[in-house]
Amino acid sequence: MALALFGGEPVRTTLLPYGHQSLTEDDLQAVLDVLRSDWITTGPKIDEFEEAFASDVGAKHAVSFSSGTAALHGAVVAAGVGRGHEVITTPLTFCATANVVLHQQATPRFADVTRDTLTLDPSEVERHLSSDTKAILPVDYAGHPADLDELLSLSERHGLVVIEDAAHALGARYRGQSVGSVSHMTVFSFHPVKHLTTGEGGMVTTDSDAYAQQLRSLRNHGIDLDARARQTTGQWYYEMTELGYNYRLTDMACALGLSQLPRLKRNVQRRRDIAQHYTDKLGAMDGVSLPSVRSDSESSWHLYPVRIDQGHTNSKRGEIFQALRAEGIGVNVHYIPVYLHPYYRNRFGDRAGLCPVAEKAYSELISLPMFHGMMDSDVDDVVEAVDKVLSYFFTGIR
Ligand SMILES: *Cc1c(COP(=O)(O)O)cnc(C)c1O
Repeated sequence: MALALFGGEPVRTTLLPYGHQSLTEDDLQAVLDVLRSDWITTGPKIDEFEEAFASDVGAKHAVSFSSGTAALHGAVVAAGVGRGHEVITTPLTFCATANVVLHQQATPRFADVTRDTLTLDPSEVERHLSSDTKAILPVDYAGHPADLDELLSLSERHGLVVIEDAAHALGARYRGQSVGSVSHMTVFSFHPVKHLTTGEGGMVTTDSDAYAQQLRSLRNHGIDLDARARQTTGQWYYEMTELGYNYRLTDMACALGLSQLPRLKRNVQRRRDIAQHYTDKLGAMDGVSLPSVRSDSESSWHLYPVRIDQGHTNSKRGEIFQALRAEGIGVNVHYIPVYLHPYYRNRFGDRAGLCPVAEKAYSELISLPMFHGMMDSDVDDVVEAVDKVLSYFFTGIR
């Protein structure tokens, strides 16, 4: 069959996105109920959502933020990261992970990733440690937990804070524990492509009372009491004790999140089933390697990133990407290594070659569509399109 790229019939006529939210009528009703109530922000839904979320991931505290990026920034500030400090992180992430370090006048140090999971390699982290290192910021790439125990034991030996960017990993498990209960602070995002959405939104989970208290203050200008607490205690007086932000999440957003939380387990299971189906159907195809899961981990499958065998050409990934898009499959690439972005190159110089494993992965990666609302027929379309395109490029079947 001729590829759609060359004028043939596409597998789909409408583009299947790589990620998409699924909301029910009950979710919408929950938001409407808040809109008709007295508190549309900083009201009772905040505590309800935070408590339910904390209990879901098995953490003592959950502190909501207006976005995953704001939550990351709050966590970095609470960890004490400031001018002159260094934070060791992965290049294979969304730029926000490293940007929040720059916002603190600190320096992100990019350490390379492991070949199998594409998460921070603890031995590379060790190589980048210096007397200025303050924190380690791993990312649970695609939903697979990083080497958290190794990173935590490094942090203990060197007095560092581990802030885990788990924007991909709500519902993932690591050595019998839920992601969100392992690191000193764990950060989640509720962007629409993530496992649970509030439109924009984020959360930090922690077992530390001190971090939780500071995170609550930071998201509210550095003020000690919120408006509702003042009203219920009949006080007008408040004190600003540190420089904070308005990073608050609204009650409308929290009601939306709270309404989806009971479906989280089912949604993560649906993603696991889709991943298993991809793995079964694509495993034998030439020219592609599939994501692997370690025996001590359960991925929550935010992404299903495959790697295209580039051979000697180095152009196959680009061609295959275009060919899959033409077939109506909304593939994507996660990620451009952060230090290769123009802003980072202009500010820190051209560092191509800094993290060879991440750069090689970047040249090969394609994320297939992955979201819990995918129909079985959508999954079949992806498999059909990948088969069609890979057969053309790798086995010479035209
Ligand atoms: C989505 C995401 C973020 C940012 O979250 P927002 O809610 O969009 O601000 C940070 N890190 C990673 C790895 C992400 O995927």
